[in-house]
Amino acid sequence: MCMGKTTPHVHSRRSFLRRTAVGSSLVCTFGHGWQSLLGMARPQQTDFDLVVKGGKVVDPAQRLSAARDIGIRNGRVAAIEESIAEARAAQVLDARGKVVTPGLIDVHVHVYDGVAPLGIPADPNCIAKGVTTVVDAGSAGAHTFPGFRRNVISVVDTRVFALLNISVIGQSTYSQDNPYGELLNLEYANPKLAIRTIEQNRDVILGVKVRLSRPIAGQNDLQALKLAKEAASAVRLPLMVHIGDTHTPLPVILAELTQGDVVTHSFRGGNGGILDDRGNVLKEVRTAIAGGVHLDVGHGAGSFSFDTAEKALKQDVVPGTISSDVHQFNVNGPVFDLATTLSKFLHLGLTLDDVIQRASTNAANLFGFPRGLGTLKVGAEADVALFSLVEGDFQFEDALKQTRLGHRKLVPVATVKAGRIYGSAAIPVVRTG
Ligand SMILES: [Zn+2]
Repeated sequence: MCMGKTTPHVHSRRSFLRRTAVGSSLVCTFGHGWQSLLGMARPQQTDFDLVVKGGKVVDPAQRLSAARDIGIRNGRVAAIEESIAEARAAQVLDARGKVVTPGLIDVHVHVYDGVAPLGIPADPNCIAKGVTTVVDAGSAGAHTFPGFRRNVISVVDTRVFALLNISVIGQSTYSQDNPYGELLNLEYANPKLAIRTIEQNRDVILGVKVRLSRPIAGQNDLQALKLAKEAASAVRLPLMVHIGDTHTPLPVILAELTQGDVVTHSFRGGNGGILDDRGNVLKEVRTAIAGGVHLDVGHGAGSFSFDTAEKALKQDVVPGTISSDVHQFNVNGPVFDLATTLSKFLHLGLTLDDVIQRASTNAANLFGFPRGLGTLKVGAEADVALFSLVEGDFQFEDALKQTRLGHRKLVPVATVKAGRIYGSAAIPVVRTG
């Protein structure tokens, strides 16, 4: 479904070229390789390949939240102005009435489809939902990473980066029918192999991941954490730690982390979370935050609680990044996608700018992504997401089946990545309460 608004004859000409060139690809418009050909087909030269016109642009990296047109040329943002004349554009994407953001960055997803049982296909769940860049959080370990690179990272349209699981088998063992995780045998945690794999793939591996819950690590959690930290320190990259239901208490786990490390599932309910029995944020959590440890949401199937989030926010503990942890066992609810997770935080009282910042600017600052992601500054990658901010009654559900009635919902409409337009694969189910 192409969302581009363009003159019919130009559009059909492009569609013809596209079908000829890339068959059934998700790509909805022209590719870089066809620029010269399209140039010849154009009746006249234009300043921009594409202009995203008339939307409310929210780009926290430049403190922008206002009506702007975005001019795109050669896959980069070439201009961002109050008004760009349509005549200057080869193609116009009509964003009137829409919220326009940098292509979102989800720092916790699982897209090793077919190898990690919880993996899902990247493109229908990410780029089609306004998310141009994702970090797969540990689906692959040293033994399974080559396949991830070859069969996922290299072939999907979504920009996929990875955190390497400290276990060589990644998340290939764990499923609902086989709930036995990758660290129950500590022999599988292999810093030496992790370091070698990272050194060979530094362009796409941004850190190390370790999962510490009982079904995954049993009583090995602290030892596994130390091995993961050893690998992350050796390659000087962040460590993301999956907390909750751990054998070792959270304060002991946090003491192993240093500046730039990431705690995911920060707002989970149940034991092993950031609150004490009385609902107060643990002092060790505040110490960790003060020391530069970053709190990520990682909603997931069991790792986000409205109750925890409400209590933490009241105590001024706010997540640094909002990520979905979208995977096989939550993509049909309660997570659905990143936009739904962001909408839950709108309900919790964060502003639109706040939530977009936590899925663009802050995410871009968290890991060593290539420059030019997570913003719409001139010169940045032309990754743009269009959303409808729909008003109504929406029943949102957390990972504990607790519900809240929200009144605003971000619905992905279209995505631009490096100047190419992608339609939304599906409009998420809108449930009225
Ligand atoms: Zn996860």
